[in-house]
Formats: sequence, C-alpha cells, structure tokens
Amino acid sequence: MTDPILQTIRPQSWCMAVSGTIDAHVHLMPPRLMAAIRESLSQEAGWTFDHPTEREAMEAHLRAAGIERYVALPYAHKPDMAAELNDWVLAEAEASEMAIPFATVHGDDDVERVVRGAFEAGARGLKFQCPVQECGPADPRLDPAFELAAEYDRPIVFHAGTAPMFESSQHVGADQFEEFVESYPEVRACAAHMGTFEAETFMDFARDHESVFLDTTMALSPRSADVLGFDADEIPDEALVELAESVMFGTDFPNVPYPYEEERQGLMERELPADTYEDVFRRTAERFLGERA
Ligand SMILES: [Zn+2]
Repeated sequence: MTDPILQTIRPQSWCMAVSGTIDAHVHLMPPRLMAAIRESLSQEAGWTFDHPTEREAMEAHLRAAGIERYVALPYAHKPDMAAELNDWVLAEAEASEMAIPFATVHGDDDVERVVRGAFEAGARGLKFQCPVQECGPADPRLDPAFELAAEYDRPIVFHAGTAPMFESSQHVGADQFEEFVESYPEVRACAAHMGTFEAETFMDFARDHESVFLDTTMALSPRSADVLGFDADEIPDEALVELAESVMFGTDFPNVPYPYEEERQGLMERELPADTYEDVFRRTAERFLGERA
C-alpha cells in the first residue's frame, strides 16, 4: 500500500460501490516469457513497469486494490508453446483463489488438439493477442478454436483493435472482428481496450450484438492519451451507461506502465450510476464468463 494513488482513493466508498470486483484483463505468464514481453513493450512503446509478475505478489497487489478475482490471460507469439503455457496457467490457477484461467493457441499449432486439451483441463476461455500472434478473429486457421469455443460455451478475448501501434497489422481492425461476429454469433467475444483506435465502431458492434463485449483496459484512464494515444473523453459517460452490460473493467496488470489504481480512477471520476459500476466492475464479466444469464 505504498502506492501514493492508493492513498488518494477512498477504499470504503469503493468497496461499498462494488463487491466481488473482477479485473477482466490480467496477464499471468511464466517469468521468462513475461520478461521477454516486457522487454519488447519497453523497446517498442517505451513503457516501463513497476508491478510484480509473480502470481502471489500480483495477487497481493490486486487484493489490496479491492479486486476479488481476475481473468488470467496468456498468449503465444510462436507455434509449439501454447500447450505447455496453458498447462502452466491452469496449474497456477489451481493454486489460486483469484485466477480465472484462460488459454491460448497459435495459428500454426494443431489448433483443435491444443484448444480441446485446454478446455478439458479447465480453461474458462481463450485469449488472442492478434497482432503479436499474427492470427486474428478472421483467420481461418483458428476456425477449429472458434468452433470449440461454441461447443464448450467458452468466451474469447481478442486484442482486436489497432492501438497502440498496430494500425498496419492485417490481423486487427473492426472488419476482422465483424467477420468473426457474423460467423460465430453464439460465441461471446471481447474486444480489449474498447476496440481502440476504432472504439466508435466496436461500441456499435456491442450495441447490435449481445455476444460482443469490450474491456476498458488502458482506454479509460487519465493516462490513456499519453500511453495509448487515445483520449478517454472520446467515450462519453452516456455510452458507458448505455453499454454497461457489455463493458468490463480490465487493466493489463501487471504490464501497466503507470500505477494500477489510475485505471479505476478514470472510471470513478466519471461518477456514473451505482448500477453501471456494478455491471462494469463485476456483473458484465460474470455474464461474459457464463456465470450469469
Ligand atoms: Zn493485454
């Protein structure tokens, strides 16, 4: 609790606002992989990171910030690593009371085998970091994964937007995501980062499809403009109230290049209705995870 931001928020009002808060976008990965990801983010985006990456230390930080559970997301930047990575995440989640384990797969893997294995072992959903994995929501190599998501009723988180530096990637963008939604209308799919830099279009997808979700990760904090290159004010309060049943709180923890609490601060400063906060901080994630109708 040495974080100065922690001292400026009022824990009581926060706890009263929402109990059972879920962070729907956290990365849990083995130390060497996490170090490599941080190294590349530092080089490409100039970000630096202060948060711990080891599970127990991460969870202590999250708990101190009032988080009860989190969605643990891995991703595989090359073939032949996803199965082992998924096993690692599942084992960590087994030892945790907070982690909700997701799995990943690379487009060049034996997709069907890896994903079925992960679902059978308890993975609650799938994660694709599309530009980094170079396979996205419209990639036919991933069709077996998408079909299994439908069969097992498991949701998918896509880094589907072009932010912060993927505007030239052919694996992201609203068109790719729309193709997925049309092909798999029954699969719940979340576009991370509010779909930035095409937030407006992604919010329309959420308006039109009950299966489409968005997470707030890095897009609604006071630091979004300088870190993500996206002005949080582009998403008006009314849109969050209207889309509360589609929008989930997420952070990218522990790879957040600023104090964790700033992520929530941006949302709390909007002074939205209590019901909206209940949705964004808990109920929408429960619906995404299939825990609530
Ligand atoms: Zn992320």
